[in-house]
Amino acid sequence: MEFSILVDSFYKMESTRKRLELTQFLVELFEKTPIEIISKIVYLIQGKLRPDFEGIELGVAERIAMRSISKSSGIPIKKIETEYRKGGDLGHAASIILEQKTQTTFLVEDITVERVYETLFKIAKLEGPHSQDMKMKYISSLLNDASPLEANYILKLLLGTLRLGVAENTMMDALAIAFSGDKDNRKILQHAYNVSSDLGKVAETIAIDGIEEIKKFKIILFNPIRPMLADRIKSEEEAIEKMGNAFAAEYKLDGERVQLHIEGEKMELFSRSLENISSYYPDIIEKIPKNIQVDNIIVEAEIVAINENTGKFLPFQELMHRRRKYKIEKAVTQYPITVNFFDILYCNGKSCLELNYKDRRRKLEESVKEDNFAKYIPMSIVTNKNEIEDFMENSINSGSEGLMLKLLDKPYQAGSRGSHWLKLKREYQNELGDSLDLVVIGGFFGKGRRTGSYGTLLLATYDEDEDVFTSICKVGTGFTDEDLDQLYQMLNPKVTIKKNPRIISEMKADVWFEPELVIEVVASEITLSPIHKAAMDKIRKETGLALRFPKFTGKIRVEKAVEDASTNEEIIALYKGQKKVAHDKNLM
Ligand code: ATP
Repeated sequence: MEFSILVDSFYKMESTRKRLELTQFLVELFEKTPIEIISKIVYLIQGKLRPDFEGIELGVAERIAMRSISKSSGIPIKKIETEYRKGGDLGHAASIILEQKTQTTFLVEDITVERVYETLFKIAKLEGPHSQDMKMKYISSLLNDASPLEANYILKLLLGTLRLGVAENTMMDALAIAFSGDKDNRKILQHAYNVSSDLGKVAETIAIDGIEEIKKFKIILFNPIRPMLADRIKSEEEAIEKMGNAFAAEYKLDGERVQLHIEGEKMELFSRSLENISSYYPDIIEKIPKNIQVDNIIVEAEIVAINENTGKFLPFQELMHRRRKYKIEKAVTQYPITVNFFDILYCNGKSCLELNYKDRRRKLEESVKEDNFAKYIPMSIVTNKNEIEDFMENSINSGSEGLMLKLLDKPYQAGSRGSHWLKLKREYQNELGDSLDLVVIGGFFGKGRRTGSYGTLLLATYDEDEDVFTSICKVGTGFTDEDLDQLYQMLNPKVTIKKNPRIISEMKADVWFEPELVIEVVASEITLSPIHKAAMDKIRKETGLALRFPKFTGKIRVEKAVEDASTNEEIIALYKGQKKVAHDKNLM
């Protein structure tokens, strides 16, 4: 398939934000796509080469990209850099540079989607001492044969900056229309996606085998299942109102959620955002297979750091020591953990998603043996407010955050947040009612004791409609010296020359970061703001929302993708909730 066909679609899609138009462009593209490469097209539209959980990342550095453009155009790097600084988009800069070049050269051979994909794949796989040179060689060979517009998109793919604004749902609408003629089949595709986390695979199945095969789509061991999430509630009364008079209460442990896929000795671990995290937990890989009583299984657990002497759970940030590539053995002995199982999704070749909570819990206990390292999450069936309060107290005393409340007769709803699971945290009873997970977008250098680190960070919410990050506050309190050191180490490699176009902020930060890191903050209030951009125009014209007295809680949410950060919709709900509380108090 000619790459220019894909590029024309990219160009059209970039020019609109309207879902119906995007769907139409996608349908037209899918209809022109040979079915053997449909999965590749789906990944490329998402700016990827494979599903996220395979961890194949392009992420070519800007410097290498600029050198490759220079190599293939003969234009000096300085000039490319100047062009880049003008618009902040290296893909666009490359197309302008190459425009100048193609005016003097003969037309070159057409490039195909297959060739671009294979080359990008080779680049992503390169490592070792000569990899930079090889990357440049591959990139410039593509650019030599590319039209200026094609070069623009090749660079965006390479740098990971392609943003077409195609949500997964839009993609599934278009697949349903293109390959089954009925948009309503989206729901069936959704199920297949929820159990495989792989849109390319879903696309390939419907394109080659048709909708009937999608209906039979099964869980694939070692492909992560999209996790079930919980709604938040604020009180025991609300729990009873929403859940009736008998439901399960489990400790809400403050650790890292993990999905374990196991068959014999083979085992892979996936995080909440479906990243493969097996390498951080060699102790789990070594020990857990011995606890498994069945041939194959997918189970969910919360990994928690523990104090070996008291057996108490330690806070989430203790797990950060595991997030290192080297000296992991030392971290394993210094920062011991336990694995606390709470659900079973698959067992002996069969899905368990359709089983209700009670049956899943029973099956979990039959299939996994407990010991000092592998535990079941403490659970109790509660029937009234006193029992909830009592169990909540036990949970907090053990070092947990609160309770997860689960309906007894409900199945596991992969990939959805709903009211079958509710979370009740003690901290929700603070002023704002909840902590927020925000994206770090900018930094301000520290003074005095904080010299040499970022003393204050600029934070953003996620705007789901526009797929951008909108500033909401600066935070400079709550950091220990150790936190500041650690954040500096993590943020320094993310500093960019130009502000990423997905960052929406008019603040003047000392440095801008690639929006890649999420941290947790609490605040006293949400206020209207003339300077911050979160929920702009949603409550009042030309006004955004900001946090008052924000404070870092000590949690760097490495397990969260930036798209999982608090959204503007959630902020608006909290803002409205807080106004209602104030109103109700005034009436009392
Ligand atoms: P939070 O910020 O509260 O962790 P979240 O957005 O990460 O929320 P939620 O589904 O809203 O995810 O909250 C559930 C999280 O709580 C899970 O992702 C998991 O990490 C953790 N957790 C702790 N104990 C349990 C439990 N017993 N059952 C399910 N999840 C649990």
